[in-house]
Amino acid sequence: MNPKILLLLVLIAFAGACLTPPQPKSSGRGDSEESGAKVQFPSPVRLKDTRGADFKLFANDSEFVSVVGRRTSGLGPPNPDAGLNPYEFETLAQLRNVYDTLTIHHSAGPGDEDVRQIQRFHMDTRGWADVGYHFLIASDGTTYEGRPVGFQGAHVENNNRGNLGICVQGNFAFAERVPEAQLASLWQLARALNLMLRFEHVRGHKEFKDTECPSELLMDEVEAMRAEFHLPD
Ligand SMILES: [Zn+2]
Repeated sequence: MNPKILLLLVLIAFAGACLTPPQPKSSGRGDSEESGAKVQFPSPVRLKDTRGADFKLFANDSEFVSVVGRRTSGLGPPNPDAGLNPYEFETLAQLRNVYDTLTIHHSAGPGDEDVRQIQRFHMDTRGWADVGYHFLIASDGTTYEGRPVGFQGAHVENNNRGNLGICVQGNFAFAERVPEAQLASLWQLARALNLMLRFEHVRGHKEFKDTECPSELLMDEVEAMRAEFHLPD
């Protein structure tokens, strides 16, 4: 072969190798084939990690929410002596059998409060094992991991088993709107979690007890989620 052609072929092969994107490592994650798209979820091990790194939750193959893990936000370790209830599951399918309800809350705080303060309040004042909510969304749309999904939350008295709690930070009792970035994060998170866990109910806290939480404004979103997820009232 002509040495120039040979050199050209070698260069093309080299360029091709460089352009090949790195293949994802096998991670043992749970997968879903919803609507033809392959969506990956955090592994069961990650869902029990109380010092976990940031992760993404996908609502479909392009829409996702970035979640700030406890390692980044600086949430402290839980107190197992106060009754931290881990769910028994080895697979995502088993965790789906545990969860049936998504419950929306507001924090009744300023909206940009430090999630570490919320954790300290729940642990030191309430005496709980950890922050009560599974996720918290600040007014700028930043989504934080609270109590890992592999543990039972503490957010609806006597109705915590199989109930995933999202706290929308802020007080919406007299607010006219939810900040745009925060609302977008709430929907991305709810859609991703619904795909992952397939809820049977979406509720506002006030549907369990006499409370203003999460406000009429956020109850409108709860009702819109029920409609989108084809769930009963
Ligand atoms: Zn609440």
